[in-house]
Formats: sequence, structure tokens, C-alpha cells
Amino acid sequence: MQSSPNTSAATTVLDARDVEAGYAGKTILRGLNLHVRRGEIYALLGANGAGKTTTLSLFLGFLKPSAGTVLVNGVDPFGAPADARRQLAYIPENVALYEHLSARENLAYLLDLARQHADSRSIDGALSAAGLQPEAFDRRLAGFSKGMRQKVAIALALARQVPVLLLDEPTSGLDPQATAEFNRLLNLLREQGVAILMVTHDLLSAADVADRIGFLNAGQLVEEVAASGDDRFDVRTLHRRYTELGA
Ligand code: ATP
Repeated sequence: MQSSPNTSAATTVLDARDVEAGYAGKTILRGLNLHVRRGEIYALLGANGAGKTTTLSLFLGFLKPSAGTVLVNGVDPFGAPADARRQLAYIPENVALYEHLSARENLAYLLDLARQHADSRSIDGALSAAGLQPEAFDRRLAGFSKGMRQKVAIALALARQVPVLLLDEPTSGLDPQATAEFNRLLNLLREQGVAILMVTHDLLSAADVADRIGFLNAGQLVEEVAASGDDRFDVRTLHRRYTELGA
């Protein structure tokens, strides 16, 4: 684990600079500087109420910063929300999909809504790449586990070929095997060059997949650490630092 190096602006896909933001006059983010590069997994850690989901809301264009700049692949998500959303896939803690539709139908419908043409071969290819078993392709989502729903959401991101993936607590409630499978999918997306910002309380997953980890405390990024090569994060060191920082 080492202090994170400076980033070349050329590869920065998610960029928040000197951002102040909050709700109804209450400032939550205080001078946030955070960037995620192409082909990078960034885990944002922090205590309840630190402002992690608020950070995602900025990139999603749900919240206007009162100061600073927010860019998603060069697009201001508040100024041009439709353009910014075309750049990204967002997977909330509980994936919202159409319960009465099958996995195939969900993908076909949601890709159609995104005005993205996809034939049945590419839909099946995305579902397979996301690790969904073929016998589940035509089953209604209503009977799917949380892990299976996430696979459908990842398949949608794969089919849309978006450069950005935002995740809010993706592994909460997943069993260890489903978590490992999910992390494998994140690695696959990273290999495709996707910039991934993951908000999480799951230190083990962060240690497992993240290239960089940021600790958010009361709306400020108080520390960033980077994995170097094959030298992964040590979960005990992460936990100790998390506690020390009061993140
Ligand atoms: P958690 O780990 O509990 O999900 P978090 O780090 O994601 O926490 P946020 O959800 O970003 O934290 O919330 C940061 C602060 O902003 C909290 O004090 C919360 O009560 C407040 N907050 C969040 N959303 C709103 C909202 N829509 N209106 C008013 N206050 C809000």
C-alpha cells in the first residue's frame, strides 16, 4: 500500500474538483477532490453519513454542487444530465429492474430505452459474460436472488459499453461466493477500460479489487491509498487506518 500518485488528466474519466455540495443549506461535501481513471477501480470508504452516496449523486447529476467542478467523461452531469447518463451505468444497493420481465426481456427493453440497438445474440452474450446461467435467461426477475439481479445489471452495463460504472454498496447482503463472483465481474469491466467508483463498507472486497481507496470523513477525502502492481491491500492495515482516520 502506498500514497497515491498524481493522475494524468488525459485518463481521468470521473472528476470532482474542489466540490462543495449539500442539501437545503446544509453542506455535506467540503472541498471534495476525487478522480477515477479509465480502467481503474476506486473504492470510497467512510462512516455512515460521511457523504459517499452524496458523491455518487453528484456524478449522477441528481445534486448540483454549490462550488467546484464535476465531470463524467468530460460532461457536466448537472448541466447535461442526459449526455452524462449515457456515459454511465449505476447499480444501487438494490437493483431496480422489471420484476415481471425475464432477464432477456429486461435487457432488450432497457437497451431500447437507452436507444441502443442490440440483437438477441449480443444480449445473450452480455448475460453470459455477466455470469448468469443460460437457464435463467427466460425466467422472470421476481424469482431472482440479489446476486442474480446484479448480474443482469452488470450485463446491461456490458451491453451498453459505458465508460463509467457507479456502484453503491454492491456487495452488501451477498454471500462470500456471490461477492467473489461479483468482484470477478468488476475485474472484467476494468480490463475493458471502464472507470469504476464503488461506495462500500466491505473492506474485504475493497482490498480484493480496488486499485485505489479513498477515506471520506465528514465530506472530505482525508486519505487516498493505492495498490501497487501485485501488492494488494492488506485488509487489517485498511481496517486499522479506517479506524484511525475515524472515516
Ligand atoms: P451511509 O454509509 O449511511 O450510506 P453515506 O456516506 O452514503 O452514508 P450520505 O447518504 O451521502 O452518506 O449522507 C450524508 C449526509 O447527508 C447525511 O447526514 C444525510 O442525512 C444527509 N442527506 C443525504 N441525503 C439527503 C437528502 N436527500 N436530503 C437531506 N439530507 C440528506
